[in-house]
Amino acid sequence: MYSWLQASLDQLCQRASQNRLHHALLLKGFKGIGKTKFAEQLGRFLLCANKQTVPEQGYAACGQCQSCLLLGAGNHPDLYEIRSDKQIGVDAIREAIKKLSGSSQLSGAKVLVIHDAHTMTESSANALLKTLEEPTNNTFLLLLSAQAERLLPTILSRCEKVALASPTKQACIAWLKQQGYQNVDDAMLRLYGASPLLLIERLNTPPKINYQDVIQSIDALRTGQADAADLAIKWQDEAINMVKWLQIWLVDQLKKDATNAESLWKMHSLCVSANVQLRNPGVNKTLVLVNILQSMVK
Ligand SMILES: [Zn+2]
Repeated sequence: MYSWLQASLDQLCQRASQNRLHHALLLKGFKGIGKTKFAEQLGRFLLCANKQTVPEQGYAACGQCQSCLLLGAGNHPDLYEIRSDKQIGVDAIREAIKKLSGSSQLSGAKVLVIHDAHTMTESSANALLKTLEEPTNNTFLLLLSAQAERLLPTILSRCEKVALASPTKQACIAWLKQQGYQNVDDAMLRLYGASPLLLIERLNTPPKINYQDVIQSIDALRTGQADAADLAIKWQDEAINMVKWLQIWLVDQLKKDATNAESLWKMHSLCVSANVQLRNPGVNKTLVLVNILQSMVK
């Protein structure tokens, strides 16, 4: 398990081994912090017939029982997963609930993992409610989400929320070194350090626009050599990254010179609302960017 998630995993495994684990967990945290692997390891532990539960030795699945072997082969009859690129439809939920309502094939626990749970439609979420309220015996539902605020309140209130933390900067750097990435650019660390797996993806395929480009463009904008609308059009495909870069730039300005603090914080709060707006699939990204960029013109 990733070092920054180990303590949370141990805690849940400990509670599971004492039969004190809530049957519905919402595992929430930034995209790219390792939620999928976390759910996989927790599921493995829950399903294992011969768990290692001596605190001093750590909590782990045995790796040898029938359940562990089936999981290793990717073929466990009591593990169900729902994932979808866009939306999780009601049929997928109903099918999973039907499977969960039967008895366990291996006489152990049953686990349902719902990836990107915030993509459930309203009817999917409603179909899941009864199972969340009255689960069948020894059944665990693991809901994963990087945007938990988009889940219906009825779902949120029925789950125990487990906030998975991102690594500290030092932990992230140490982990990157283990993965063979030395001397990672500080701007990339600041942009993606909270999402290490995403950071590695970006290091392999660097964004088209880097922080140096952003600094130069803002200078040009503030000295009248660039136009906010032109920049917004150029940046719209990477709008979310661009807003993050702008936030980093604003924080850097504040550190250098606090005399403009008030206007800089105003721009920063525009960025914060832009982050929320950009999560809406139908949003006009150019307009969102223009709004911030115009506020930066002196
Ligand atoms: Zn096992």
